[in-house]
Amino acid sequence: MVKEKVIILGAGIAGSQTALELAQDYDVHIFTKSDPLASNSALAQGGIAAAVHPDDEPLSHYRDTLIAGHFENNRKAVRLLVEEAPHIIEELHREGFIFDQTSKGKLLFGLEGAHSMPRILHAGGDQTGLLLTRFLHDHFPATVQFHQHEMATSILLDEYGHVAGIRTLTTKDGHCHFYHCDHLIIATGGIGQIFGSTSNDLSITGDGIAMAIQIGARVSDLSAIQFHPTLYFANGHAVGLVSEAVRGQGAVLVDQNDRRLMAEEHPLADLAPRDVVSSVLFRAQNAGCTIFLDISAVTDFETKFPQITAMLDKNQEPFRLTKKIPVQPGAHFLMGGISTNLSGQTSIPDLYAIGEAASTGVHGSNRLASNSLLEAFVFSKRAADQIKRTKVAYKKMAIIPKKTKGLQGTLPEKAVLQEKVRQALGIERSEKTLNDLLCFLATHSFLNCQVTNKDMLERRNMCILAAKMADNALVQLQRVETEMR
Ligand SMILES: Cc1cc2nc3c(=O)[nH]c(=O)nc-3n(C[C@H](O)[C@H](O)[C@H](O)COP(=O)(O)OP(=O)(O)OC[C@H]3O[C@@H](n4cnc5c(N)ncnc54)[C@H](O)[C@@H]3O)c2cc1C
Repeated sequence: MVKEKVIILGAGIAGSQTALELAQDYDVHIFTKSDPLASNSALAQGGIAAAVHPDDEPLSHYRDTLIAGHFENNRKAVRLLVEEAPHIIEELHREGFIFDQTSKGKLLFGLEGAHSMPRILHAGGDQTGLLLTRFLHDHFPATVQFHQHEMATSILLDEYGHVAGIRTLTTKDGHCHFYHCDHLIIATGGIGQIFGSTSNDLSITGDGIAMAIQIGARVSDLSAIQFHPTLYFANGHAVGLVSEAVRGQGAVLVDQNDRRLMAEEHPLADLAPRDVVSSVLFRAQNAGCTIFLDISAVTDFETKFPQITAMLDKNQEPFRLTKKIPVQPGAHFLMGGISTNLSGQTSIPDLYAIGEAASTGVHGSNRLASNSLLEAFVFSKRAADQIKRTKVAYKKMAIIPKKTKGLQGTLPEKAVLQEKVRQALGIERSEKTLNDLLCFLATHSFLNCQVTNKDMLERRNMCILAAKMADNALVQLQRVETEMR
């Protein structure tokens, strides 16, 4: 019997977990734009949140998620997330994944911002994401076809408006390909690289969301961006992240005069929710402060945080001597994305979205730390279950759009676009900078541009997103103004 074909875009935790769920019954193809481990999943340092400590309970995890999200979360989604969490951990354990433990074999729990108790499970110290992603990839059966360095460029529909295939570009030789599919899953992650200063992997340019927008899929909360307070900067550039788990171990934020920046700002001080800490640091920076993470209270830093240590050493940061790491806030996570129900279904038939690319409303307006890897596991399983319940009733024929000649648009330089986005969609926003961004984009007429390579495709996708994000941010600003009146 011919198996239905499922295409998964993205080999982070969301995409990889779905591939495993469907491998037995479907012809599964998973695509990644770059190396198999080039994803935000593989960069995750802190770990995965789950109420598995004997003194913890899903209700407490639920409460913390809602408080961090300013009660703007989809409560059904949060409930699913926190209730499924212990089962996800149990299943990973059963399959042989080892979370960090004490010498007596008891699980070690990390503490991160806005959690009312230590509940973050981690592996290899700060290498949870890398080890989990490798673990999933290592479990792919031979039947899963793993297309690496192959970037999805557009989604194709059939005459009834159902998803019927994709187009791709092999990034090493520039060749274009077409694939038919019965079900398509977007797991391409967030949008971090649309900002110059970001914790995100270079491959995270919002491609999946931009492609979904182009076929008319519903999107939501696209301007809801989480800024992480502690990106490590070297020579003026964001190099990577210093996990909140470091503050969970006692590190504190100080200025150049060793003045504590969070002590008086929130009852949880340095472990306040991310949006609170980032706003305080942003204001401090604007007032001329230089910000450091003082790690003098953290014991065995190098053992607990080997990945962060390697990053600092690579950049010759003298943190062992100074006990300080220079940090600044930067773009980290997208709360919004392609609108889906709780089974990953989008507004386009046979198109699913999961992980950071999806918007279920689970995070509200500010994601609770370490809920994202959990989201990737929980909702990818649910999307896979939904696909198993859905039979494709007919043989689809993708409509291949004709090549348009004489296109005249242009694309902005990446760095220029990133700077405009930073000014408009950063921590503090105004109508003026948002309208400036929209005017800047309008001068390029980017949709009318002939795109022929990866760099151009990424820049076009970033323009599509920047325009939608600015529109959404303007609506949000107007909403706040109306509420204030
Ligand atoms: C530095 C850092 C630390 C973090 N720490 C934590 C943490 O401790 N705990 C936590 O819960 N969350 C953490 N997060 C957030 C979390 O890692 C991500 O939200 C989550 O991993 C997203 O998973 P995903 O599978 O949806 O997407 P990703 O893991 O980002 O994967 C996206 C995939 O899509 C592929 N792709 C992109 N575009 C295309 C295209 N056009 N064609 C084909 N493939 C494409 C990429 O190559 C990649 O394989 C962290 C994020 C960062 C950046």
